[in-house]
Amino acid sequence: MKSVYFDHAATTPVDRRVLERMLPFFCEVYGNPSEIHKQGREARAAVDAARAQVAAAIGAGAKEIVFTAGGTEADNLALFGYLQRFEPGHFIIGATEHPAVMEAARALNRLGWAVDFIPVDEFGTIDLDGYEKAFRDDTRLASVMFANNVVGTIQPVAELARIAHEKGAVFHTDAVQAVGSVPVDVQALGVDMLTISGHKLYGPKGIGALYAKRGTRLTPIIHGGGHERRLRSGTENVPGIVGMGAALEIAVAEMPETKPRLERMRDRMAAAVLDSVPDVKYLGHPTERLPGNVSFTVRYIEGESMLLQLDTHGYMVSSGSACASGSLEPSHVILALGLGAEEAHGSLRVSLGRENTDEEIDGFVEVFPPIVEKLRQMSPLYVKG
Ligand SMILES: *Cc1c(COP(=O)(O)O)cnc(C)c1O
Repeated sequence: MKSVYFDHAATTPVDRRVLERMLPFFCEVYGNPSEIHKQGREARAAVDAARAQVAAAIGAGAKEIVFTAGGTEADNLALFGYLQRFEPGHFIIGATEHPAVMEAARALNRLGWAVDFIPVDEFGTIDLDGYEKAFRDDTRLASVMFANNVVGTIQPVAELARIAHEKGAVFHTDAVQAVGSVPVDVQALGVDMLTISGHKLYGPKGIGALYAKRGTRLTPIIHGGGHERRLRSGTENVPGIVGMGAALEIAVAEMPETKPRLERMRDRMAAAVLDSVPDVKYLGHPTERLPGNVSFTVRYIEGESMLLQLDTHGYMVSSGSACASGSLEPSHVILALGLGAEEAHGSLRVSLGRENTDEEIDGFVEVFPPIVEKLRQMSPLYVKG
């Protein structure tokens, strides 16, 4: 049976070219970049080169990049690293943030920080008015994700950053889903901090970075030997760093080809699903959305049942939330769009990636309607409804 991976928002395969660039840094150039002998110097040079690649990909300076062990850690560094030097005050986040920001915010709240979660509209776009009104005299920071991992909505980041600055706060954005998929330029956006993750852009897992604009005062959350300009101690993950640099370079270079192709496939799949299955609602913004994100909710049946049926046909998708706990709680993102619990339970996320083909879209569009029909015939909600 064919196997089609449609879950690129969860993770991507490592690009073979990326792996090739990483391999020498396991057994040949294995030095500790802090050492000044030949091995150490070669490893340091590789880290420096990758830092320059990452910086160039987002329009930053090399000194503004801090490597971390992933997107989650970079988000935690942004929130804790910025806020912990102040007396507890107030900060703002979006209602549809990834758990990496959401749970860091909750932890800060337990330490005495007040936090406001800004609602989104039916398309997942942040309520600009509510956002602006939420700022207080003691608001230190606002964090709103660039693009949502469940429904793909892209936020007006430049506008959000501008408002935060006007109110005297710094602005962070979790751009894990955006970097490598859509153009991201920290200068044009005017953000103070921005989060990146390697494994969402065809690089390895366990590596990420935080962009922190020059002059943004951060204190570390991980203490030790003072690596990464004292902001993130721990011997550098040299192969991971090299891999993320290479992956970003490739993603940005190929974006002029990849982005429009994915957008075309995305729109074709969405149109076909909406056309062939009754009682389906497209989730997220109709146009301001990630190139590979097709999210929708199917009435009367469960996302998990569709996911499992699709899996038996070889199509790997996500049921909207992919909660780490595996609980059947509806996703907070879907609920934030204003959907009821029953509708939220029927959500499905297809996230396309650059190795996907038009034939794979055709195949999905063919098998999906009969799967829905079969599940609906078994659903008590459907029979009653
Ligand atoms: C995947 C993801 C993260 C977490 O990144 P990791 O590298 O897996 O820790 C954070 N934010 C968003 C939006 C993500 O999609």
